[in-house]
Amino acid sequence: MTFISERLQAVRTSIHDATIHAGRNSQQVHLLAVSKAHPASAIREAYAAGQRLFGENYLQEALNKQAELGDLDIEWHFIGPIQSNKTQAIAQHFSWVHSVDRLKIAQRLSSARADNATPLQVCLQVNVSQEESKSGLPVEAAAELAHAIAPLPGLKLRGLMAIPAPSQDIELQRAQFRQVRKIYEKLQQQGLMLDTLSIGMSDDFSLAIAEGATIVRIGSAIFGSRNQ
Ligand SMILES: *Cc1c(COP(=O)(O)O)cnc(C)c1O
Repeated sequence: MTFISERLQAVRTSIHDATIHAGRNSQQVHLLAVSKAHPASAIREAYAAGQRLFGENYLQEALNKQAELGDLDIEWHFIGPIQSNKTQAIAQHFSWVHSVDRLKIAQRLSSARADNATPLQVCLQVNVSQEESKSGLPVEAAAELAHAIAPLPGLKLRGLMAIPAPSQDIELQRAQFRQVRKIYEKLQQQGLMLDTLSIGMSDDFSLAIAEGATIVRIGSAIFGSRNQ
């Protein structure tokens, strides 16, 4: 086995164990392999080991890799900050966007999505850590934006994404994930048909799964460290 396929298998096993430990069905948690800063060849290796969902943060980097990997049946997820002049290309070249945090961006993505394509699957990125440097909308603004985005014709609002500040304190880390889940459940109670909670990365995905993650976004645990 290659390095990447070994790591991928180890991550799959850990996801499975965490899901069972949380009393959940193992089919409820999907693995998004985050390939930023790694070459197309690394994606090809993970693909050969059965991985189909890949996440990228930077548009130009992603487009270059997509061009090299056009022969593969990959579902591409955009997970990075979105500049408004990039919405056209993002809407055309990705199936999912996890990082929507402004109505204007959502409207632009919606109108850029081709009429004959399935709607772009989107998550709102919420900021539960109150860190000014992090993108994502404040928790208090989530409901209003979710209800404004849900009717946009080119989009399908699927749920929430968050990147809580890393903490050594497991309870604190878990509480941040729980806060995202609470907002998610509140939106569901308000009638929005949401099914996606995109939380958890290499260092904390087991906790995120315990708090209801349905997509975990994992980079370094699969591809190794990013030396940029
Ligand atoms: C880089 C990145 C990840 C993956 O982080 P790892 O710690 O390498 O697993 C997940 N989500 C987002 C939004 C990222 O930018």
